[in-house]
Amino acid sequence: MTGSRHDVHRAYCAACGTRVSRQFRPGPDGRPDAKCPRCGSLERHRFLSLLLGSLGPDLRDLDTVVEIAPSRQSTPLIDRLGARRRVRLDLGHDKREVDALASLTALPLRDASVDLLVCYHVLEHVPDDCTAMREIARVLSPRGIALLEVPIRMGVATEEDPLAAPEDRVRRFGQADHVRWYGDDFDDRLAAAGLSSVRVTPPALVGEAAVSWFRLMAHEVVWVARPGQACGTPVLPGSGSGLAAAFDAVLADLARTEARLARARTRAERLAAERDALRARLAGGQPSAEHPMLTRLRRAAHL
Ligand SMILES: [Zn+2]
Repeated sequence: MTGSRHDVHRAYCAACGTRVSRQFRPGPDGRPDAKCPRCGSLERHRFLSLLLGSLGPDLRDLDTVVEIAPSRQSTPLIDRLGARRRVRLDLGHDKREVDALASLTALPLRDASVDLLVCYHVLEHVPDDCTAMREIARVLSPRGIALLEVPIRMGVATEEDPLAAPEDRVRRFGQADHVRWYGDDFDDRLAAAGLSSVRVTPPALVGEAAVSWFRLMAHEVVWVARPGQACGTPVLPGSGSGLAAAFDAVLADLARTEARLARARTRAERLAAERDALRARLAGGQPSAEHPMLTRLRRAAHL
């Protein structure tokens, strides 16, 4: 059975770890049901939290983790991993907290020193993204993992123009500070830079029912990349692992329990109304007019 948002009304925020019964808030672009009312996480932060959990065995005993362009919502998720050293980098100053200002094309990090690097929605800003990808491959340790996310259009090649005027970029790439829109060749670009990668989507990781329960975006894609051309990519739970099927079963069971609870509530309300009506009838009768037998029955029943 496939769940839907109509089957189970409540949701679970995988970022702050709480069950949310209120409506999720709209996202930055006004899309409905996107932002957790408790912690402010968006769909991608909740998916990142689940992804980090799924990669658990690969993320034990971390030495250095690097977050590129950190956010208020993602930093706590990465902090939870308990790495010995955490480095937050960004190109420029704003109100976010960073440890150093640096370009992705010249990372101030030693070769093979990073066990986890998280880089969401950055590469589309970088004119020389090949150098940026090579830098990621350079700093990753042999066991290192990079989690990458970019805007992508499936079925077409990457369209890019780092020299385009800002107003032209808005029209062609969606934002004045984007220089490209990635397409199907993104994986090849990673491979050319020395990164082997797998694509992970929310439905593949946790199943359709859990996509709804966690308020994720079904079409989101994260690239889980490792240094080297043919080395083993992390083993992620997917459709074959049983995790998605387990979520489907649990959430279907939860939906049935909620439906049973709703029916029981309706029955209880009907019985309470009948009881109140009976009480009103008994209280309304005058003692003189009440049949002695009814009085005795009433006393016996403590009504
Ligand atoms: Zn939350």
